[in-house]
Amino acid sequence: MSHMAYIGLGSNLENPEQQIRSGFAELGALPGTRLTAHSRLYRSAPMGYASQPDFVNAVACLATELDPEALLDALLAIEIRHGRQREFPNSPRTLDLDVLLYDDRRIETARLTVPHPRMGSRAFVLRPLAEIAPDLQIPGQGRLAELLPRCAEQDAFPMETLPAS
Ligand code: ADP
Ligand code: MG
Repeated sequence: MSHMAYIGLGSNLENPEQQIRSGFAELGALPGTRLTAHSRLYRSAPMGYASQPDFVNAVACLATELDPEALLDALLAIEIRHGRQREFPNSPRTLDLDVLLYDDRRIETARLTVPHPRMGSRAFVLRPLAEIAPDLQIPGQGRLAELLPRCAEQDAFPMETLPAS
């Protein structure tokens, strides 16, 4: 049976644009999985730990037969292929892949919390999501349209609208 999962992608090391674009392709190549939509690429200021490069962020929508834990394992394997090292919380990363949503389920296990607990307060998640799923309801957090204005002051904009850096 096919499920709909939204994945958040982020990178701020080693050609982040390329990391995200190949991330889209690798997500779509997972077993039993199809990439059904992805957002534009956004540039955002780092949160939590400020003295690191800006991030490139995007979201992808998958139709997948993987169950949530198998999907998480597959995301971690892609991260490792991209050379990701976990140094400290919010540290720079070549590729971060998060399960944002899995159908309309709420999941709470030792390894996995879905919906992603902080997604509803992050402009770099909500703005790209709004491109591909404007009517989304985030279980336990609220409607996308209501959450978006609450992070209006955050720095996260489509790269094509920004001056080249
Ligand atoms: P973060 O994305 O918060 O910066 P990491 O990418 O280092 O942190 O993830 C740390 C752990 O978070 C992962 O090993 C995974 O088991 C756990 N985790 C819990 N919920 C999720 C989720 N929805 N998506 C991805 N990882 C999750
Ligand atoms: Mg992560």
